[in-house]
Amino acid sequence: MRTSEIRHRWLDFFAKKNHEIVPSSSLVSSDPSILFTIAGMVPFIPYIVGTEKAPYPRAASVQKCIRTNDIENVGRTTRHGTFFQMAGNFSFGDYFKTGAIDLSWELLTTSQEDGGFGFDPERLWFTVWEQDEESYRHVTEVVGLDPQRVVRLPREEIFWDTGQPGPAGPCGEWHYDRGPEYGPDAVTGTVPEWPGDEKGEDRYIEIWNLVFDQYLRGEGKGKDYPLLGELDQKSIDTGLGVERVAYLLQGKQNMYEIDQIFPVIEKAQELSGRAYGGDEEDDVHLRIIGDHVRSALMLVSDGVRPGNEGRGYVLRRLIRRAVRSMRLLGYAQPSMPALLPISKSLMVESYPELEADFPRISEIVYAEEEAFRRTLETGTSIFEQLAGEVKNGGGRVLAGDDAFRLHDTYGFPIDLTMEMAQEVGLQVDADAFRGAMQEQRERARADAAAKKSGHTDTAIYNRLLTERGGEVPFLGYTEDTVATTVESVLVDGKLVTAVEAPAQVEVVLASTPFYAESGGQLADQGRITLTGGGLIEVDDVQKPVRGLIVHRGRLVEGSLAQGASAIATIDGERRGAIARAHTATHMVHESLREELGHSATQAGSENSPGRMRFDFRYGQAVPKSVLEQIEGRVNTLLQDELTVTDQQMSLDEAKSLGAQALFGEKYGEVVRVVSIGGDWSRELCGGTHVSSTGAIGTVQLMGEASIGSGVRRVDALVGLSAYRHQAKEHALVSQLSELLKVGAAEELPERVRVLTQRMKDMEKQLAALRGQQLQAEAGRLVDSTTEVAGIRVLTHDAGEGVAAGDLRTLALDLRSRLGEDSPVTVAVAGHESGRAALVIATNAAARERGLAAGSLLRIAAEAMGGRGGGKPDMAQGGGGEPAQVPAALAAVHAAIEAAQDA
Ligand code: ATP
Ligand code: MG
Repeated sequence: MRTSEIRHRWLDFFAKKNHEIVPSSSLVSSDPSILFTIAGMVPFIPYIVGTEKAPYPRAASVQKCIRTNDIENVGRTTRHGTFFQMAGNFSFGDYFKTGAIDLSWELLTTSQEDGGFGFDPERLWFTVWEQDEESYRHVTEVVGLDPQRVVRLPREEIFWDTGQPGPAGPCGEWHYDRGPEYGPDAVTGTVPEWPGDEKGEDRYIEIWNLVFDQYLRGEGKGKDYPLLGELDQKSIDTGLGVERVAYLLQGKQNMYEIDQIFPVIEKAQELSGRAYGGDEEDDVHLRIIGDHVRSALMLVSDGVRPGNEGRGYVLRRLIRRAVRSMRLLGYAQPSMPALLPISKSLMVESYPELEADFPRISEIVYAEEEAFRRTLETGTSIFEQLAGEVKNGGGRVLAGDDAFRLHDTYGFPIDLTMEMAQEVGLQVDADAFRGAMQEQRERARADAAAKKSGHTDTAIYNRLLTERGGEVPFLGYTEDTVATTVESVLVDGKLVTAVEAPAQVEVVLASTPFYAESGGQLADQGRITLTGGGLIEVDDVQKPVRGLIVHRGRLVEGSLAQGASAIATIDGERRGAIARAHTATHMVHESLREELGHSATQAGSENSPGRMRFDFRYGQAVPKSVLEQIEGRVNTLLQDELTVTDQQMSLDEAKSLGAQALFGEKYGEVVRVVSIGGDWSRELCGGTHVSSTGAIGTVQLMGEASIGSGVRRVDALVGLSAYRHQAKEHALVSQLSELLKVGAAEELPERVRVLTQRMKDMEKQLAALRGQQLQAEAGRLVDSTTEVAGIRVLTHDAGEGVAAGDLRTLALDLRSRLGEDSPVTVAVAGHESGRAALVIATNAAARERGLAAGSLLRIAAEAMGGRGGGKPDMAQGGGGEPAQVPAALAAVHAAIEAAQDA
């Protein structure tokens, strides 16, 4: 029965039972404190808690729902979607328990010819609250359900409430038993061992929850509250999972295989070339794609837009998870344009509004995929740079810190980092990555705690600043090395007079060439050498309070004492690369303003060695052509060798010159203005810059994306990093030109187009040929059937180059050729790209003899070191060693023999 038909039947049934049919509300409720509609009862809450009088005594609906806390379950259990449709019937002071139970029983068990769902009554189980005698008696005595299939549960497991004093009540839940193939029998009795939702989930599937809203409850935590008495107006609120009913009635293994979802999975299979039913992890990704694409479609349809918080963030996460899953399946092209229209075509029958709105919906979803792809692209190029460095240094492990930076700064998911590392023969230090994640969490917690208590511990720094009587002079605009003295030393945040190596220290100097991180420019690194042989490696420089420059680093040699003479030297190469990035940032900023107008104001930036990031306020994506123009403009100005100058002046004077200031930033009375090319670019800025734009070399924009409401980000490589990136791409193009035998690189796209077309044609021909060949072979194979303990068994190794799909066709063909007269088991195997695949099919007569394809397959898959499973009539597995295929087929023989002996 199609999913849309289940929805129809529900509404028809309850309309006939005098229920007011209420259309689904939006996924987004008008109450901003509720993220999404999570159940059919949400729109009826006022009638249930009694704050409003219901306009009708009974109602029914099929409500669109989103449950974000089921997101981790998607694809891993059989029954959880992020989007699903909950069918509900409601009574407000009208019928109560017995009425609700009768209605549910009637709809579930009435035959399909007569308009019901036609569930086998012998497979339905009911759970009730152990003190709810009325429901128990009604189900067992009036409905006539076998008491063996009624389970009585304690209050913690089967009670509904709103989390606060008010209405509450027990539930009655219908479950469907999928049979012993799916798990152990439930034991019922006085102390029932109900497999419950977690443990037995594969076998007993909850399909319908009836909530009996009976009591007034008092104060209490969790389910620990007193029942104060019966409500005056008792209500019924029920919820049936339309998708759950669909997969059970459609004979599918899980809700992602139903008619409203599976065609999306099929498309994803086709795009990625990974077959569903082969590898379990691949299957999870395919199911995630099927589910999330649909959820994204329905959310955007109800007005949600991707964003960084709340509803928008959930949508963004769904789209990104789907894109990432495609990526992990090996498909790196844009996939939403192929998948989303399919999902729409499947949902439009129940939700006709999708049709007219689809241009808007698709535009939003595709743009989000594009944005994520750019994030991934930037991440990929950074990854490649890092991986190259590791390899050049002869290493095999990508540092956890680097993986963390990819994740934290560039939003690059760790599983992709691991996957890509593996591809180039590297490992990722996953422990260190987890350590860095943990540290970040702790930092965030500490920050939050500090914010709460209203002070971070800056008291000591304030004291040092006062004692020294003013700002520490920063000499780094002109000097790389400064001779100075150690004013104070801190260890673990406490002042000390002296310390011996090795130690982590914080040092304040009388003057310094070190730039402290600020205005988006990263800190300098370098070393401080001390008279008497001490050496400090400086990793970080900060201004914990305005005017005080604190060097943080490791005392690696000798000793460090207050008052010692010191030579402070920055890492000039790093500084140079940072300065080039910083000047480039100003230039990109000005060029953006030229192209986009003056409303494109700065919202933040980061200047690190060889790389810059610039955030600005702008309401829409910047077209690629504009980015190209900006890149061209900046690079032309580099060549023009514009001079970069700085001047101290009063804030008013700076403003009158039109210098750009960062909104929200506090400036002193005297400010520093950095100008490029005279008055072309003027910004208030304390950072360090090159003296001529010629020193920058090259600026290459890597992409542009949204990072939140109305804020966009451009990323660029600067100087040698840009050159290296281009050199690598150039090498790649030459390599491709050589491989594809084109004279000039410009011919590449056309050549690739021709080749892919030819490949597609060939694949089509090949598939046709393979089909014919298998057909021909099938005729011969039938003769090789052997008999094992009265079972006709056909095993065959089809060898190299046979995909799982072909094996399935072959197995079904062979099974039907062998007929239904006697028990038949067919097992066919093959391998492709070093992975074995195996399909087993049994006919009805064999199943009667206890031979389930699923169980045989598990045994055989184990014999070849793979995995898999399936239904009693047909099962599929793979992933094992091709060399073990004969062993797997032999295991099938052995298992049949053993089963027939027993
Ligand atoms: P489960 O324990 O299986 O997650 P639940 O107790 O969360 O179910 P209810 O809150 O009672 O389910 O929701 C009512 C009905 O809605 C369930 O009986 C089920 O049929 C369906 N349902 C609940 N969550 C989902 C979901 N994530 N995807 C599909 N259907 C669902
Ligand atoms: Mg649940």
